[in-house]
Amino acid sequence: MAYASIYPYTGKTLKTYNVISDDDLTAKLNQAEKVFQEFGKESVKDRAPILANVAKTMRQDEDQLAKYITHDMGKLLTEAKAEVELSANIAQYYADNGADFLRDKPLRTMAGNSWMEYDATGIVMCVEPWNFPYYQLMRVFATNFMLGNPVMVKHASNVPQCAEAFEKVIEKAGAPKGAYTNLFVNYKQVGRIIADPRVQGVALTGSEKAGAIISAEAGKNLKKCTMELGGNDVMYIRGDVNVKKAAKLAAYARLWNAGQVCVSAKRYIVAKSIYPEFMKDLKAEFAKYKPGDPMKASTNLAPLSSKKAQLNLQKQVKNAVANGAKMVFGGGIPKGTNGFFYNPTILTNITKKNPAFYQEFFGPVAQVYVAKDDAEAIKIANDSNYGLGGAIVSKDTHKAAQVASKMNTGMIYINDICNVIYPELPFGGVKHAGFGRELGPYAVKTFANAKLVSIK
Ligand code: NAP
Repeated sequence: MAYASIYPYTGKTLKTYNVISDDDLTAKLNQAEKVFQEFGKESVKDRAPILANVAKTMRQDEDQLAKYITHDMGKLLTEAKAEVELSANIAQYYADNGADFLRDKPLRTMAGNSWMEYDATGIVMCVEPWNFPYYQLMRVFATNFMLGNPVMVKHASNVPQCAEAFEKVIEKAGAPKGAYTNLFVNYKQVGRIIADPRVQGVALTGSEKAGAIISAEAGKNLKKCTMELGGNDVMYIRGDVNVKKAAKLAAYARLWNAGQVCVSAKRYIVAKSIYPEFMKDLKAEFAKYKPGDPMKASTNLAPLSSKKAQLNLQKQVKNAVANGAKMVFGGGIPKGTNGFFYNPTILTNITKKNPAFYQEFFGPVAQVYVAKDDAEAIKIANDSNYGLGGAIVSKDTHKAAQVASKMNTGMIYINDICNVIYPELPFGGVKHAGFGRELGPYAVKTFANAKLVSIK
């Protein structure tokens, strides 16, 4: 398997990397284990300044780091800079709060003086996707670094410049070599790492397919794991909204990052009373998104991450239409573009018999459904194999919160898009969207030994 940076705007290969040898992998595992043993001599508080320095270093190097994202996977440079900033914020959040989150917790009991303490367990092996090449890494690194677990990462094969740059940032910020290790490894080597007794946790963010493989590998080796997988999130637009504003929000929620976000609003459910007006405004909003040079601040639609992604999406849309969906806007590859673009597209009339009904479209393609009331909207929303996030737009926030409680997902945002990320808010889903949570106060304890100590 080759690691290659292929610029999605031009299709040109910028840089390639070889998979490391098994001997190199052994040396990297040894180094990570050495750091794990040394971490035991330090306190959480000693690591906080290093993590704060990671945040500072990312901000200092923002321009270059953002360019690597754009070159590797085509993200708009403006969005790439925002991702670097978000990653720095996550590092700072755990630097500021990690020690507090990991404080011993006294327990009220007749047994005696008892408390829980949260100890590091060992190396955590992470397999990560390309759609947020630094943010995904920071979610697993910042938490485990505070806890004292070294992190080893197999990043996606199309973002190798980002993978390399992130490791350099961590080392430049003063973390010991081995606290974070980038691995250019193949699938077989991933299996070997998971089986290594020094590895005590496994985290994957990626597709359902990879989730099934990696969690099975973790299970076979009795390793705890977290799975952050795909989504087919809804945005439910209730009848009481300002339709123009809701259509603008909906378009952004779907088209940001060229639609390649696990928690994008992929299915709009629209109240019947406002459906015609909403559709008119939605098309007008979609028409504003134009493909262009992702390096230019004026461009608002990025190419997809790879040729394969473009072909997959094209095939999915064709199949949806062949099974009865109506393409009411867009479709196809924009004329005159050489990059891996796909036109912003709106599909309606998707029945349950259409395979598209249950599929995740990882690109700028929206599905629209109509609901006569809240009960029907909830039914459509929950009729999914996924259960990652979701959004509800409504003036009546009390009613919207009641609807949110009935939606079977890990996250729901009311009057906001689900893909706004705050370091302090937990992220994760249910059903085939995976299990476990990253970010927020509890994520630092995911790979901890929650140990009871009790004194009579
Ligand atoms: P993917 O194919 O599953 O790839 C993700 C990572 O898994 C890559 O590093 C990939 O390596 C690796 N991988 C795949 N199969 C593997 C195997 N058999 N053994 C070891 N490693 C393996 O996912 P993708 O298509 O790139 O990413 C998009 C998916 O991720 C979407 O479904 C999206 O919704 C989901 N996602 C979820 C979240 C979340 O937080 N829930 C966030 C972002 C994305 P290679 O690149 O080398 O194949």
